[in-house]
Order: sequence, then C-alpha cells, then structure tokens
Amino acid sequence: MSTASSPTPRSGPTDGLADAASVVIEDLHKSYGSLEVLKGISLSVGAGQVVCLIGPSGSGKSTLLRCVNLLETPQRGRITIGDFEVTDPEADVDRMRRHVGMVFQQFNLFPHLNVLENCTVAQLKVLKRDKAEAERVARGNLERVGLAEKAGNYPDQLSGGQQQRVAIARALSMDPSLMLFDEPTSALDPETVGDVLAIMRNLAAEGMTMLVVTHEMEFARDVADKVVFMDGGVVVEEGPAAELIRSPREPRTQAFLSRVL
Ligand code: ADP
Ligand code: MG
Repeated sequence: MSTASSPTPRSGPTDGLADAASVVIEDLHKSYGSLEVLKGISLSVGAGQVVCLIGPSGSGKSTLLRCVNLLETPQRGRITIGDFEVTDPEADVDRMRRHVGMVFQQFNLFPHLNVLENCTVAQLKVLKRDKAEAERVARGNLERVGLAEKAGNYPDQLSGGQQQRVAIARALSMDPSLMLFDEPTSALDPETVGDVLAIMRNLAAEGMTMLVVTHEMEFARDVADKVVFMDGGVVVEEGPAAELIRSPREPRTQAFLSRVL
C-alpha cells in the first residue's frame, strides 16, 4: 500500500463529524438516583450557530451540557453531533470527545503545566500530533486569544480572565467542531469578563457551533441565534434571541429575565 500521498489522519468527511457540526438533542432524560434532573429535553443547534442556554440555578443546564459529551450518561433520549450519534451504545466516545471542546466556569487548567503545555498535552496524547506541530497549533490559538506572550507562564501567574482565555485556546487546539461553554464568565472579575466574551464573539463570527450556558444577556442577545430557557429540567421556552429576551411568552421566563436583566 502506498502511503506517499496519505494525508495525516484526522477528522475528515468520513469521520461523521464535519467542521462546525450541528447538535440535535431529543427527549433527553437524566436522573441521579431518584432525582430526575432532565425530564425530556429536546433542542437543536444548527451547524455554525450559537445557542445560549439560560435558566435558574439547579435547572439542569450543566447536566445537559455534560450529557452532550458523555461526561454524564443519560438514561433515555438521543444526542447527535453532525452524523455521529453520541448516545449510540456502540459510539466511540473518545473519537466524539476529540471533536467537542468544553470550557468550564472554573477553567480547569493543569496547574503543573505552563500555558503552552496546557495547550499541547491533549494534542500530543490524543491526536498524536508531533511536538512541533502541536506547539505551532497551540501558539496560533494563544495568538487568537491574545496571550501569545504568556506561553511560558503557569496558570497561577495569570488572572482569571487570562486563565479562561487559555482554556479556550486549549479547547480550540483540538480543532473542535462544537464548543460547549458552561458559565465561562461567572467566576471572573467583572473587568475581565469582556475579554472572554470578545473571544467568544469572534469564535461565533468565524462560524463555530457553540452551546453556551450564560447569564450574560447582552452577549446572548447580540450573538446567539437562539435562546433556550430551562427550568426544572424542561425547556420552558425557546426562540430567536432578541425576541425571547425582549418579549418572553411564559411567566417563568418573564420572572427569570426580570431578575437577571
Ligand atoms: P444548573 O447547571 O442549571 O445549575 P445542574 O445541572 O448543575 O444545574 O444541577 C441540576 C440538579 O442536579 C441539581 O439539583 C443538582 O443538585 C443535581 N445534580 C447535579 N449533578 C449531580 C450529581 N453528580 N449527583 C447528584 N445530583 C446532581
Ligand atoms: Mg451549572
């Protein structure tokens, strides 16, 4: 077999997970013991779209996000990313996770690795890229989040906002076709929130598919194609961002928005 012209193995059309994949969630149920947290959630994100998920604390937003990349296993329902059925018991979970970037409220950087290493470790171990290539990709993404000059610093030498930008660069270094954000600015000092949101705006403009749990209503209104309001483990209401925020139909949505706006 000739390998002379073989491309580097990576995500391609046969992978079932194209660049900027769509997400479809159908009738998702998740319980912890007798506590039913997700009670039949259905929602979709078109390829290249941004959906913001809002709702009170405890409504199941994080659980939903964690089900999408199988950090939690739902009991019932279906999740598809591109052509890839995540909830298929035969699904190759590792392959799916390579394509899904996740950014958490608490950054979760590796404290013992510097910024560059944080952005290369998964590329080396999971994607099996060589070191030079991994560092090239990482530096490109650090540039993208405005932190190229911090490559040699350790997480505890950075502000919260800078750490979160590294977390975004780290996720992007895996070339994800979907990015999940779980309250990415909730733990930040107010003056650094804007920098992180600006990077997320750029990502959205570049056509990344994004599912974002956030209380930043201005961001949701400006950037999201759709806003989904969850309460008590169900989708209460969803609609075009500006419309849902301006004139929510459901009393529960109205009450929530009047508290956060
Ligand atoms: P949100 O992100 O909207 O605040 P969560 O998805 O974190 O909501 O939590 C929804 C509910 O599920 C809460 O009642 C929470 O206590 C419960 N819960 C979340 N994770 C677990 C877990 N691992 N074990 C048991 N209960 C959990
Ligand atoms: Mg949460």
